[in-house]
Amino acid sequence: MHGEIQIYNTLTRKKEVFKPITKGHVGMYVCGPTVYGNPHLGHARPGITFDIIFRYLMHSGYKVRYVRNITDAGHLENDSEEGEDKITKRARIEQLEPMEVVQSYTLAYHEAMNLLNCLPPSIEPRATGHIIEQIEMIKKIIDNGFAYEINGSVYLDVNKYNEKYPYGILSGRNLKDTLEGTRDLDSQSEKRSPVDFAIWKKAEDIHIMKWASPWGKGFPGWHMECSAMSEKYLGKKFDIHGGGMDLVFPHHEAEIAQSNAANDCNPVKYWIHNNMVTIDGQKMGKSLGNFINLEEFFTGSHKKCEKAYSPMTIRFFILQAHYRSTIDFSNKALQAAEKGLKKLMTSFNTLQNLSSSNTSTYNISKLEKKCYEAMNDDFNTPILIANLFDGVKLINSIKAGEASLNKIDLEKLKNIFKNFITNILGFSDKIKENDSKNIVEDIMDLILKLRANAKKNKDWQSADLIRDELNKSGIQIKDSREGSDWEIK
Ligand code: ZN
Repeated sequence: MHGEIQIYNTLTRKKEVFKPITKGHVGMYVCGPTVYGNPHLGHARPGITFDIIFRYLMHSGYKVRYVRNITDAGHLENDSEEGEDKITKRARIEQLEPMEVVQSYTLAYHEAMNLLNCLPPSIEPRATGHIIEQIEMIKKIIDNGFAYEINGSVYLDVNKYNEKYPYGILSGRNLKDTLEGTRDLDSQSEKRSPVDFAIWKKAEDIHIMKWASPWGKGFPGWHMECSAMSEKYLGKKFDIHGGGMDLVFPHHEAEIAQSNAANDCNPVKYWIHNNMVTIDGQKMGKSLGNFINLEEFFTGSHKKCEKAYSPMTIRFFILQAHYRSTIDFSNKALQAAEKGLKKLMTSFNTLQNLSSSNTSTYNISKLEKKCYEAMNDDFNTPILIANLFDGVKLINSIKAGEASLNKIDLEKLKNIFKNFITNILGFSDKIKENDSKNIVEDIMDLILKLRANAKKNKDWQSADLIRDELNKSGIQIKDSREGSDWEIK
């Protein structure tokens, strides 16, 4: 333990000292992806946010069971109650079995998370693997009088629920607000009230993914899976539930209602939500032409990317902001992050070769304390990174002979950098691949400078020789008024 951890709880709207329900053990559930498309920035942010929380809690000595689900059924278009299942729709368009869609995008998601150096969760349950558990929970909700069946669908009776439990405690919406938000939607609805939501849906004939139930063939409502699976793996009451802020309503609000209705138990002690990402100040959206997949960032293949950005650059960029702030992606900001990360990692390498002195001119314990204080203050990674950059300054001063550390302090600094950079912030050794890319870029910059000098001195022979020899190695030089650039042919 390195001091008390304060967590901002969406439920109470304030920071609270973290005290897990069972001493030394933490149960954490995070809503994972609906696997019907390639992973994008909207997946990277919660992936990285909860990876940091997972890593830091483990570093703080807790045993953590981290459950992150895969949604492979029940999530309808526009997160609504009507319409086609997102996965079925993709299967129809791509002419695949729904489970082929699920498999392909689950693998793509795992690959992206691995590149971003997010540790895999302890358990990764799927909605389709837990239909029985969901049906059992729905039965309990009906038995407790908080849901009704109509025409093969089951709805949670929100008005009835609200008589016993306050509905809207997480989102701060009361029943009246919710009613106004839904009023003009289908007046033909079979629901008793527009605020009621489906926990089981009757499957129409065209619906491919359906299961037998006491109410006929159908499929669970999207919110059910998280209630059933979190209970199965973490118990009726567990410590942390996370996800993106866009899930607060209706998804997480519905989860609270389902658990109260089934178990008479408010399921979660600390709700944690990461904020959203924008691109060039705009919300990300297919119709806006700024919907960039992670792979397109990594390869630079999207027309909005001026170059490729390594997964570690994306990770660094996301962690430069606090998880509860919005972040805006732009080429300029990403290039600044790339430079910042390079500076930090170069310094980390330099540190390994520094020699100690007899005396210390710097208080290392103070630096360590500040790093832990930052993480204990609701996982404040931007402050942590700023503190590490104080360490970078120190390393440069030692290298320049302007500061010194004794043997014990130097070892301590090495430990701080290793713990916070590698173990907690998760900047991986994969940076090395990126480093070799940077070295090539540095060498090419040098060659282009030599060639520019030759041209300036009217040494056309050398300038052409450099161009032709590079051309033979498959590197093309492009001259323009602004100077020369290069690319691999
Ligand atoms: Zn969920």
